[in-house]
Amino acid sequence: MVYQGMRTDTRTGSNSRRARAVVNLPTARLVERNDITEDLMVIKLEPETDEFRFKAGQYCTLGLQGIERAYSIVSAPYEQCLEVFVELVPEGELTPLMWKMKVGDTMTLRPRAKGLFTMDPRVHHHFMVSTVTGVAPSVSMLRQYLKDGDDGHTFYVLLGASYHYELVYDAELGSMAKAHPDFIKFVPTVSRPAEERNTAWEGAGGRVNVIFEEYLEKFDPPQDDTLVYACGHPGMIEDVKEKVMAKGWKFKEERFWKE
Ligand SMILES: Cc1cc2nc3c(=O)[nH]c(=O)nc-3n(C[C@H](O)[C@H](O)[C@H](O)COP(=O)(O)OP(=O)(O)OC[C@H]3O[C@@H](n4cnc5c(N)ncnc54)[C@H](O)[C@@H]3O)c2cc1C
Repeated sequence: MVYQGMRTDTRTGSNSRRARAVVNLPTARLVERNDITEDLMVIKLEPETDEFRFKAGQYCTLGLQGIERAYSIVSAPYEQCLEVFVELVPEGELTPLMWKMKVGDTMTLRPRAKGLFTMDPRVHHHFMVSTVTGVAPSVSMLRQYLKDGDDGHTFYVLLGASYHYELVYDAELGSMAKAHPDFIKFVPTVSRPAEERNTAWEGAGGRVNVIFEEYLEKFDPPQDDTLVYACGHPGMIEDVKEKVMAKGWKFKEERFWKE
């Protein structure tokens, strides 16, 4: 298997600095907006095209005023709406425009979803490490897996954030793990447990790229039948990659930006 250091080709993921004239692209209409914090929101878009298809774990390319960016899809392929979890980059080009959107507005949607950060059915243990918005592919894969009623696979989802309210899908993932304790393990963690804003937090503490090793040991998945996935913050990915590859684990990554 050719996993080592595999990276999704995002050159065509439209993270180019320049806005291009975008003509005749399909659109998707904003049907729901959930502002989690000042700089995190979950939106649901209804594609106004029948062409759009994707696999759980892939990303779509959304745009406004010709500025297009890649967004990992939270929803599963069986769902009607396209759900994405977005972080505001105040000095960025697209996200400040997205923050002005209202229900009923439209974005362009490239008809082809892209990315290789999908579940590999050849292995049976999926150890997923993510930060904040990087949880999207794991949620999509699990929603689809549960909908399909498949079996034979075990998922270990480790999700990190600075503050507990940034662990946006923890309730959903926690419910999945509670309903299927035999094949879904979920560990949310906050990196700043001592801060006042985290006093309500009773779960794990520490950076996800540090504590994942403890859980890899605890859950003890068979190394020859396990794939480690890392998605989100590039610094977290770099650290996880270095640690797991040094120990011979198969590894797959999706970086949301370059440091
Ligand atoms: C495959 C892929 C999937 C992605 N999925 C998501 C997703 O699900 N949710 C999401 O919010 N973003 C996601 N991104 C990032 C997204 O494509 C944009 O880069 C991001 O929304 C910022 O866009 P912008 O135009 O506002 O800022 P830009 O003008 O593109 O960026 C300004 C600067 O900020 C950096 N940057 C980009 N994102 C962040 C960030 N979150 N924190 C700090 N710095 C950042 C960029 O590298 C750049 O240097 C993904 C990126 C890729 C490549």
